[in-house]
Amino acid sequence: MRIQTAAAANRTLACRRFYLYHTVCEVRLHLYGGDAEALLDSCEKTARQAQAMLNIYDPASELSRLNSGYTAGKPYRVSRPLFNLLHEIDAFSRACGGAFDITVGPAVRLWDFTARRPRVPDRTALRKTMERVGYEHIHYDTASETVTIDRQGMLLDAGGAGKGYAVGLVAALLRAAGVGSASVNFGGNLYALGSMQIAESAPRPWRVGIQRPWAERGEPVCSVYLDNRAVSTSGGYDRFFTQDNNVYHHILDPRTGWPVESDLLSVSVITPDALLSDLLSTAFFVLGPQHGAELVEKQPGQTPASYVLVRESGVTASRCLAGSIDPEPHHNAYRRDCIEQTS
Ligand code: AMP
Ligand code: MG
Repeated sequence: MRIQTAAAANRTLACRRFYLYHTVCEVRLHLYGGDAEALLDSCEKTARQAQAMLNIYDPASELSRLNSGYTAGKPYRVSRPLFNLLHEIDAFSRACGGAFDITVGPAVRLWDFTARRPRVPDRTALRKTMERVGYEHIHYDTASETVTIDRQGMLLDAGGAGKGYAVGLVAALLRAAGVGSASVNFGGNLYALGSMQIAESAPRPWRVGIQRPWAERGEPVCSVYLDNRAVSTSGGYDRFFTQDNNVYHHILDPRTGWPVESDLLSVSVITPDALLSDLLSTAFFVLGPQHGAELVEKQPGQTPASYVLVRESGVTASRCLAGSIDPEPHHNAYRRDCIEQTS
């Protein structure tokens, strides 16, 4: 996903890049009256803390410690931020009929998409592994902030929500600090704060590029105009391998453990809440166009959630985006007054 962030690089007040979540993360400030570097320090720290809590590739993260340290049927105490996040994700899983399922971890581990040479797992092993998948096996107690997992060997994987969660935390921090205009972009998960400010001209909505699936990073397929909203994109092109001319990608059907078969190349979901847009884009990809659209459209709130779907046959978007979508992506090449952020 790309975002046109300001009229020219020298009008960006300050920018910070760091590598987290297997991706380049970027925070850009455009309108802020305080100490920009100190604020960017806080943003980076917040993002690192979120990763330190959720990264299951780090055995010391709080989520890894839960995964390896719980005993079936016994309450396990977690920190308040982790409890609240897991609880919110659980409510979402229920609302989408389990299309988003944080317990998909054992299947993700078996597929091992991050391996040097991933292979299709043995069918019997995968079927057996799926006995340890199912969000309904986790119970939450708000009073004691404990989770009870009723089967041994389960594995919570926040990969489908972690970046959106972190983007949301950073966006909230910027807003609380009084930032008037900023963008937060963590690899496919983005928040556009305030409006785009170009010198003395009137503020305009941000123009965010939606990544063209399977193309080079940073090449948009279309653009959307928005402000104070998050965009998250899920697609099979993001992490995959090929075997015997078949593509196997990282978004799994939690009922079978197999990569979801879909004619969708990518789904982007736009909502005011960055975590929700991350949850929705993954769930939409799993549910497919019809049920995915229904899920997005039934989201409560004053600002309707919307989506952009990319298929081989072209781009479609939810009706409420009409007027805010530009089918012609803009490139640096002919918009020299733009800088573009690439995820
Ligand atoms: P995203 O790119 O946000 O759609 O998230 C994809 C990541 O979420 C994968 O790499 C897995 O770690 C995890 N995942 C895969 N399938 C699911 C699913 N059905 N529900 C929740 N998380 C999933
Ligand atoms: Mg997601």
